[in-house]
Amino acid sequence: MKRFEEYVSLAEQAHGHICAGQILGLRMAIYGLRLLGLDDPEGRDRKRLVTFVEIDRCMTDAIAVVTGCRLGKRALKFRDFGKVAATFCDLQADRAVRVRARESARQRAKEMYPELESPNRQQMQAYRELPEEDLFDSQWVRVEIAPEDLPGYKASRAVCADCGEGISFGRETAVDGRTLCRACAGGRYYDVV
Ligand SMILES: [Zn+2]
Ligand SMILES: [Zn+2]
Repeated sequence: MKRFEEYVSLAEQAHGHICAGQILGLRMAIYGLRLLGLDDPEGRDRKRLVTFVEIDRCMTDAIAVVTGCRLGKRALKFRDFGKVAATFCDLQADRAVRVRARESARQRAKEMYPELESPNRQQMQAYRELPEEDLFDSQWVRVEIAPEDLPGYKASRAVCADCGEGISFGRETAVDGRTLCRACAGGRYYDVV
């Protein structure tokens, strides 16, 4: 693992600014990896880690910085629950730990630094200093990850019978005997104009 301040500057580069969410995300990921007993996420442990994040905010970028799990590597999974929580999965040891921020952490930050003008400043400072037990709760969980969702999964590409676009990772569906992409099968999130 790197020193905390090193992570802070990497997170600032990756995210564009430093903020309370970054600090919390860094600490959350460091805690999660320690609970799993992994200390070389970008080297030796690179291929054994998959992380589920439950919110798409500042924190998420910081978690990617520490874990090395990225969307483009299929090792960062997003479940849109709107919660400040993440689950760190060790594929090799077949175990996973979910870490969530305690609701009381914000209040603690306010109490610790009433003299700082904004909640962001209060939290940014307090989240550096508070012990992990005050910031987070953790629970051991089971996560079933389907083979086609794992990094490195190989599948032949399909082609949608409607739009002609290529489809990877077995995301095609059969509708009335035709192979369709999820968009053409009714899941389209856009309208062509
Ligand atoms: Zn931010
Ligand atoms: Zn299609």
